[in-house]
Amino acid sequence: MSGRDHDTSEHGPAARVKALEQLLVEKGLVEPARLDAIVDTYESKVGPRNGARVVARAWTDAAFRKRLLTDAVAACAELGIAGPEGGHLVAIENTKRIHNLVVCTLCSCYPWPVLGLPPVWYKSFAYRSRAVRDPRGVLREFGVELAADVEIRVWDSSAEQRYIVLPERPAGTEKMNEEQLAELVTRDSMIGVAKITAPGNSR
Ligand code: FE
Repeated sequence: MSGRDHDTSEHGPAARVKALEQLLVEKGLVEPARLDAIVDTYESKVGPRNGARVVARAWTDAAFRKRLLTDAVAACAELGIAGPEGGHLVAIENTKRIHNLVVCTLCSCYPWPVLGLPPVWYKSFAYRSRAVRDPRGVLREFGVELAADVEIRVWDSSAEQRYIVLPERPAGTEKMNEEQLAELVTRDSMIGVAKITAPGNSR
């Protein structure tokens, strides 16, 4: 398996980054804890907030939603979102009958401009192999139980094509504005391993 997995190869980019990180730590130029904090920020905060803005706009602006589903790169650019690893972005929409799940079976291709850095589990062999073989089981482990009549579509990312899931807007959010809606949108929902729920009992 490791032959296909260029990210963990001895001479691949991941190995070079690790070597560089080690050197910087040894030279006292960076603290490991500080580095972890930066990675965490880009993994779960800064990065996915861009995607959340895109989703909230699509929920509140039908014309934008249409443009997003037709040409995600151009639609994101309207919101000032662009950058490396984002040039081939495709948005896929969840509906009552279709649930989309994103994976990169080969390594860890991920849409950086809208989602930031990929979480560790996304890069794991277990997720990469099982997402295709048993998507329903994987979703169950993430706490998403889908009705039997919901079709699951699995999208395999590559350097040429990366995906963002447009999750369903939850019921009970009719009165929320775009900014409030963006707060509800989680990273995992845009990978397709979570659903979004409205804040408790809001009506
Ligand atoms: Fe990849």
